[in-house]
Amino acid sequence: MSLALEHAGQNDTTTYNANKDTLSIGEVYEQVMIMRTLERVLERHEVEVFLQPVVLGTSHELIGAEALSRIRDEDGDIVPPSQFIPIAEQTGLINKLGIQVFDKVCAFIATYDLKRMGLDWVNINLSPLQCAQQDIAEHFALILEQHGIASDLIHLEVTEQSIVDYSLIKDQILQLHGMGFKFSLDDYGTGYSNLVRLSDYPFSNIKLDMSLVRSYSIGKGGLLPVAVSGLKSVGYTITAEGVETEEMAKSLTGIGADYLQGYLFSRPLPIDEFVRTYGAG
Ligand code: C2E
Ligand code: CA
Ligand code: CA
Repeated sequence: MSLALEHAGQNDTTTYNANKDTLSIGEVYEQVMIMRTLERVLERHEVEVFLQPVVLGTSHELIGAEALSRIRDEDGDIVPPSQFIPIAEQTGLINKLGIQVFDKVCAFIATYDLKRMGLDWVNINLSPLQCAQQDIAEHFALILEQHGIASDLIHLEVTEQSIVDYSLIKDQILQLHGMGFKFSLDDYGTGYSNLVRLSDYPFSNIKLDMSLVRSYSIGKGGLLPVAVSGLKSVGYTITAEGVETEEMAKSLTGIGADYLQGYLFSRPLPIDEFVRTYGAG
């Protein structure tokens, strides 16, 4: 079923293709509501950026943060990314969303003294669709310039799933890397990457997916130490995601994770709360 929402007084139409065979009318309605929320929020430049701390494995000191986006419905309730990111990707709205998140992170970096907070960088998630846009580097360059900030303060995260068809995103990734952005491979362990394939990409950091982190912490991730030491031996730094307990933190640093991220340290925080907690310059 193809649902086209037209807006009075606007020429642009966002089309959302819902699969008739798998969605009930109620589910389709819910998805259309999320799409409308997304459109309203994007139109008003109201995407919220939350920041989740990334800490050093050894000392648990703050070193970086990951930007995670949030939108609110008409009642002010947060719609989680698991609900709106897939819709943003299917409708193409992810490009507008990605630009807004990038702009807001740049504004954050330009406003606060990162060093004083202990932040060396901020990570931003890039969807494969966004990466496939040929003018992405141009857009990012313009925004960096508007805010007067350096590209090396931003690390871009690309998921393991999205590098399956590298040909579509390769040029853009290399261009962005050439501009000084660092790259992290997100959700490692959910796709099919191997050391040989990874060497084609300019990643400097690998983020272990929380499913791997969990399995390992309950004694089921037998080969993880071998994978981590292999990745480290060829120069990648390692981040463990979804660290919820001291035991997980200890076991992951034990096998060589350089950085840790998870609820043990902090949930993602709205920017003002992040700044209050970690101290602005
Ligand atoms: P992700 O990039 O893998 O981000 C990590 C997710 O794990 C976040 O969920 C974070 O809140 C959650 N998390 C962090 N620590 C823990 C923990 O200790 N335990 C558990 N159970 N969860 C933890 P969130 O914010 O709901 O985001 C979900 C996904 O949505 C992200 O997964 C990312 O793929 C996507 N996403 C979020 N914001 C953006 C964005 O601005 N652009 C794009 N392209 N994708 C985004
Ligand atoms: Ca991520
Ligand atoms: Ca991840």
